Parts: sequence; structure tokens; C-alpha cells
Amino acid sequence: MNFAFSDDELAFLQDFQDYLAQEQLRPDAPVIFAPWRETDSWLVDSAERRGFMKRLAQAGYIGMSWDKQYGGQERPGIYDYLLNEELSSKGAPIIGKGVGCIGKTIIGHGSDKLKQAFLPQILAADIEFALGYSEPGAGSDLASLRLRAERRGNEWVLNGQKMWTTSAHFADWYWVAARTDPEAPKHKGISVFLVPMDHVGLTIVEIETMGDHRTNEVFFDNVNIPSEYLVGQENAGWQYVCEALDYERFAIYTVGPLLQRFEALVELVKLTRRNGKPLVEDQVVRSCVAEFACEVETAKMLQRRVIAKATKGDVPTVEAAMFKLYSTQLGRRIANCALDWLGPLGLLKSGAPFAPFDGKWEMSDRATVVDTIGGGASEIQKNIIARRGLGLMIGA
Ligand SMILES: Cc1cc2nc3c(=O)[nH]c(=O)nc-3n(C[C@H](O)[C@H](O)[C@H](O)COP(=O)(O)OP(=O)(O)OC[C@H]3O[C@@H](n4cnc5c(N)ncnc54)[C@H](O)[C@@H]3O)c2cc1C
Repeated sequence: MNFAFSDDELAFLQDFQDYLAQEQLRPDAPVIFAPWRETDSWLVDSAERRGFMKRLAQAGYIGMSWDKQYGGQERPGIYDYLLNEELSSKGAPIIGKGVGCIGKTIIGHGSDKLKQAFLPQILAADIEFALGYSEPGAGSDLASLRLRAERRGNEWVLNGQKMWTTSAHFADWYWVAARTDPEAPKHKGISVFLVPMDHVGLTIVEIETMGDHRTNEVFFDNVNIPSEYLVGQENAGWQYVCEALDYERFAIYTVGPLLQRFEALVELVKLTRRNGKPLVEDQVVRSCVAEFACEVETAKMLQRRVIAKATKGDVPTVEAAMFKLYSTQLGRRIANCALDWLGPLGLLKSGAPFAPFDGKWEMSDRATVVDTIGGGASEIQKNIIARRGLGLMIGA
């Protein structure tokens, strides 16, 4: 298998690296580029982050794979992936939710009115979205979602609850999957809606996660929206949700943060002393780091398999499950090892006096747990590999 990038792709990468090098000279760069931060900066709102995204849009980096008639450049999806890999490796916010998951679904299935209303704003990075899929009792088994949408004349009225909605507290629009036909089989009675995030009847309640990542519960109390905010066909929402998840697997899961974490671990070994001796002289530590080096390379190759399959037009479900499972669990083990090697001081939080590496590893140990849950828990990835990859169907 040839994983090499083409000349065009490499030239694009070089241009984008040059662009980012200029961005890194700006006075607000430390807020945007933070490779040691565990929580991606797209998860918090700031004027600097919004400004960065707007400049990215003006420079033509948003919507590269969209059709030209919608303002895109019709470049293959690999360019979105290269862009995100470069952004994430510098600790900058990545693109995807608006331009990928939502924009592509509106292009594929939305009415002309939705296209006119949303696509230019997405291309210009003028609006932020939150994704409302999960609910209490509907996370891994997403098709069991119960938030109800009932048609009343020219409106839809939404009642129920969403869970774990990241960025609900600052997004402008809410992309919501709701049950429109409770009698139909569960995959067939779901529709997708766009709801203004400041709509009367929506209540947003903060949930702090152990990874310092704020997410939210959102309650719907008679939220009535015009019928034009139904996306595509009524009861076809499951298809749209699955298509958006395919995009997410391709462009949003980057390997950069894992590579950075490993590089930071190597730094830790070089700079730390235990029991009066440099850690680098400890044979067990050396052997462990060497094994991690091989495993990080394996993660990189697993991710390249996702890209290789997706660029051929196939859906890389099993490959993506392997990469997510392997890379998130490896990230967890690296963080855990670092804490072991730092000893008790390693548990001090960022800002505490004597916290080694300003508490990076204490934070990393918590954040890497969250990585194994969001976007599909590890057990679900294993189910996908067993069922779809190996044909191990239960009850077959
Ligand atoms: C920080 C964070 C941000 C998130 N952001 C969003 C967001 O913006 N929008 C959104 O819609 N969702 C979001 N999620 C939700 C995320 O997708 C779900 O948490 C995830 O899919 C797991 O669902 P759950 O929490 O309901 O756990 P459950 O599905 O209840 O799972 C609990 C445990 O049981 C295991 N399990 C479940 N089913 C099986 C099975 N069949 N076989 C074996 N084991 C199983 C799971 O692996 C897990 O360990 C976010 C989650 C987190 C943690």
C-alpha cells in the first residue's frame, strides 16, 4: 500500500505551513496555538478563535471540498484532512462541524432555502453549530433517541432532552436529531432540524467533565420552529446522521495530538531525575519509551488506512474504529506512564507550585479518559471491529 502524498498535496501542505507560520507571529497566537493544551481550542469560545477561523475562511481554507456552485473548490477530501492534521499538530482549532458534518448534509439533502441561508455563513465562518444527537439512554445506541418533534400546522414542536452537547453554550445554531415517527422502526422515525440556539424554551445546563471540557445538557420545552428548518426528508434523519459521522471519521480524527503527547513524553524522560539519577538512564523507562515509539507509528499507519480507504470513495468504518480504539487507548497509556514516572509531584495541577511541566500530565491523564468515550466509546469500536471486520455476529 502506498501511503505517500502526491506532489499537489505536498505543495498544498507547504503553503498551509507557511500560512500558519505567519499566523504564529500574531500577538494573539498564544491563545490560538497551544500544542500542550489537552482540550482542543475549538471547544471554547473566544474572539481570538473566531478571528482565526474567519481569516482561515478568507484565505480559502474552508469548504475546499464543496462544489464550486456553493463557493467551494471541488478539491478531494484529502485536503480537509491535511488541513486538520496540520492545525491539530499545532494545537489550533480544527474545521469540521459546520463545513463538514452540517454543510455537506445541507448540500446533499437541504432545500434551496436552507442552502441560501446557511452555506454562505458557514463558508465565511460566521456561525457556530452544536451537534444534538446524544440523550440520556441514547449514546452508544443513538437510534433509540426520544426527543420528540411533532408537526403542528407549519411548525414543528420539539420536547425532550439532549445530553453532552458540546458548545451549546456559545453556538449560534443547534443541529438536532429528533423522533418524528414513534411508530416506525427506530432507525426510520428520526428527522434532523436546525434550531436557533437562543430559542425560547431551550434551557442549557453545564456539565463539567473530568477532562476540563465543558459540555451541556439541553432541555426542550415546547420549542416551536418553522417547517423550513426540517433538513431534507422527514424520517430520513438516520441516513444524514450516519453520513455526517462518516465525514467525522475521515477529517476530524487526527493523529497530531497523539504524536505531540509522545514527543512530550520523550522530553519528560530527558529532563526528569528520579532517586538522584536521570530518568533516561533507567532501563525500564527506556524500553517502555521505545515500545511507545513503535506503537505511535502503528497508530499513524492505522490512520493512513482510514485516509487511503476514504479517498477511494469507500466508507472506512472498520479502519476508523481500529484507529480510534488504538490511538485513544495508547494516549491513555502514555499519560498514565508519565504520571508514574513523575511520582507524587506529577499529581499537582497546573498553576500549583512545584507542579512538573506545569501540571500537563495530571491534566493529560484526565483528558485522555474522555477521548476514549466521545465520538463512540472503546467498547463500541470493538463491537464494530468484531461484527463488521471479523463477521462475528451475535446470534448468527
Ligand atoms: C466530552 C464529551 C463531549 C461530547 N459531545 C457530544 C456532542 O457534542 N453531541 C452529542 O450528541 N454527543 C456528544 N457526546 C456524547 C458521546 O457521543 C457519548 O458519550 C458516547 O457515544 C457514549 O454514550 P453514553 O455516554 O450515553 O454512554 P453509554 O452508551 O450509556 O455507554 C456506557 C458504557 O457502556 C458501554 N456500552 C454501551 N453499549 C454497549 C454495547 N452494545 N456493547 C458493549 N459495551 C457497551 C459503553 O462503551 C460505555 O463504556 C460527548 C461525550 C463526551 C464525553
